This record gives sequence, structure tokens and C-alpha cells, in this order.
Amino acid sequence: MGSPLTDPVPMSMSSSRTDLDLDLGRATDGASQTSVFDLGPGDLAAFVQTLNEPAYRAAQISRWLYQRGVTDFEAMSDLSKGLRQRLAERLFVPALRVHRVERGVDGTTKYAFRAWGGDVVEAVFIPDASAPGRNTLCISSQVGCALDCKFCLTASLGLVRNLAPGEIVDQLTRVRLDLEAEAIRQSPEATAPQIGNIVLMGMGEPLQNYGALVKALEIMSSEDGPKISPRRITVSTAGLAPKIARLGRDTAVNLAISLNATTDAVRTQIMPINARWNIEALLAACRGFPLERRRRITFEYVLLGGVNDSDEDARRLVRLLRSFRCKVNLIPFNEHPYSAFERPSPGRVAAFQAILSRARMTVLVRTPRGDDISAACGQLGALVESPRSRLAIVS
Ligand code: SF4
Repeated sequence: MGSPLTDPVPMSMSSSRTDLDLDLGRATDGASQTSVFDLGPGDLAAFVQTLNEPAYRAAQISRWLYQRGVTDFEAMSDLSKGLRQRLAERLFVPALRVHRVERGVDGTTKYAFRAWGGDVVEAVFIPDASAPGRNTLCISSQVGCALDCKFCLTASLGLVRNLAPGEIVDQLTRVRLDLEAEAIRQSPEATAPQIGNIVLMGMGEPLQNYGALVKALEIMSSEDGPKISPRRITVSTAGLAPKIARLGRDTAVNLAISLNATTDAVRTQIMPINARWNIEALLAACRGFPLERRRRITFEYVLLGGVNDSDEDARRLVRLLRSFRCKVNLIPFNEHPYSAFERPSPGRVAAFQAILSRARMTVLVRTPRGDDISAACGQLGALVESPRSRLAIVS
């Protein structure tokens, strides 16, 4: 496993398609092509200008890619034939392919996508029956993860590779298309559920793939992309402290912190990154995150039975977070066969929550969603069969 504290893996897509095409058995002609998914909005505008085309062509291409999910330049019918041809010579579109879809009893749907090169990446659609506009899509930023949090199934894969900006966004595009197709399958008159919120809480540590993340967020909120407001997007980090304030400067997204302990001894044990940036450093970084009025930082706290769920932990959590405008999400551990941790009893969870509530903190207990399909928090990776993964767990 690479060091969790640096950016150890290059961007996912090389400028040559040769190895990727060989992986997929495609014919290659030796021509050098760039993955369009490596390009953010500014890069794409600069690219079309090198073809002596006006910058608005980039907006047209972006709409085809990210609003309609079209992956063949030839099908981009509002571009001239000559431009379509030149684009196909210079760029390729490494779209995700739906590899497996599992629909849970509560409507939670887990998608495993096959990326170019064969890696598998997962996303989870979480419907909200009480407020359909608040349906959430949880997406991934990396294949696997280097951070080795001890309660997390993704950690067992190690870091396989970073996702490219377009691959991060393409999860949303592919899920939207699947939801539309599924609605039509159910009834020709049905309308597909809309995705109102995006959370980067899937596979990977988003801030460790920072450059791609920021470009993906630009695409996602662009008028020529999926048009998701940054206020509807939450980036969750395990605690890469130096990048937290930078994220606040570079974007307008919401911040979530995966905190999970109230002492450095316990946090370092379950989240090794704490040895580099401890709780004090992490919370200091959070204070540097610009928060508009009425916005709050979310602190995620996975409750591990007998490890971090005592009354004393709850009281310490109150002391640590008292000065923040924040909400706390308590997540009773979702058990899986690759971890010895246990979910606390409902009574223990309630007692922990009560201490926070009495201190007037906003606290929610997150109901496990999709645990029948291993789609709950910390369970992603169960289906990953990436050829380069350190540990392939085949269902
Ligand atoms: S919890 Fe997040 S940061 Fe930690 S290993 Fe899992 S995916 Fe990585």
C-alpha cells in the first residue's frame, strides 16, 4: 500500500490509449489520444481552441458527455462533420460501463462500474421516500483507498488508482441513465427519480485525488454539465488537514469529516492518518474552512461497539465540537466479514445520542441503508474484482 499521506498515484488516464485498448481488446493504430475525462471545463475549452474552434464548442461537447451520456463523437450532431472527425482522432471517451446493479429492499441501489483498464468502481443511489428531491448519490473518487481505516471494507483493497475528473462525474451520468431506463421498464409513464444531492463518500479519500476532484466538481456544477449546485455536494475526508482549507477556497461545496474517535489513541488505532494529523490538527483545519451563514460542517462518527461508543466518548465529543457550527451523524457500524468490529446495541446508540442532544448539538443517527446489498457506509468494495487490486473480493 502506498503512503496515505502523499499523492502517490498518477492520474488515471495516460495520454496514450495503447495499454487501455489492449486491455479491452480494441484495435490500436498507434495514434496518441487524450482521455476527454482528464479534462476539466477550462482544459476542454483550451483544447478546442488548439483545433481553431471557438471555446463554445467545449460547452457543446460537455453537454453531450455529461448531460446526455453520449460517448461517440460521431453522434454529437450539432458539431460539424470535420470537427467530429478531428475530435475522434485526438480524444477518446473512457466511459464507465455498468457492470452490476443491485437494488435493495429500501430502494437503495448499488452500482459497480467497469472503468477502462478493467478496474471496478462503485456508487450508491439512496432514495429519500419522504423528500424525493433529496435523493442522494454517493460516488467514489478512487479505486480502493490508501488510508487503511480499520472499519472500512474499501481499505482492504489498498489504493488501486485515482479516478479521472470525468470518471468521477460519469458515475452520476450512468446512474441517471439507469434510473431513467429502470423507470421506463416499470411503466412507460413513470418519471425517473431525480438526484438532488451528491456525496463523495464512496471508495477513496477525495482530498488525496485533489486535482481531479476539483475539476470534477467544476464539471458537476457547470451549466454544461449535470448542473448540481455546489451547495448540494458534500466532500467527506478522513482528515487530510492541509487540503481542507484549500477545498474551502477552491470550491463552494459542503465539508464532512469522518471523525470516529475522541482521543488520539483510539483514532490512530482505527484511522492511521491520525498519526500524521491528529484530532487537534484536524479540528484546527476545520476552523479554517470558510462557512457561509446557515451552513454547517458534518462530523461523521461511526459507532464501534466497545471502542468509541462510551458515555465518556460522547461527553468528549461534545467538548471537541462545541465551538463548531456543525451537525453530527452517528453511524452504527455496518458489520461485514472482513472486520472484527461490532455494531453497538440500540440502547448504547440511544444513550450516546442523548448526551449529544442534551448538549444541544444537532445529532442524527443514520439508519443503515442498503446493508442487504452491502451498500451501507464502509461496505463498498465487496464486489471489486479489479485486476490490480491487492485483494480481490469476489462475491
Ligand atoms: S473510510 Fe474512506 S478514507 Fe478510510 S479507508 Fe475507507 S474509503 Fe478510505
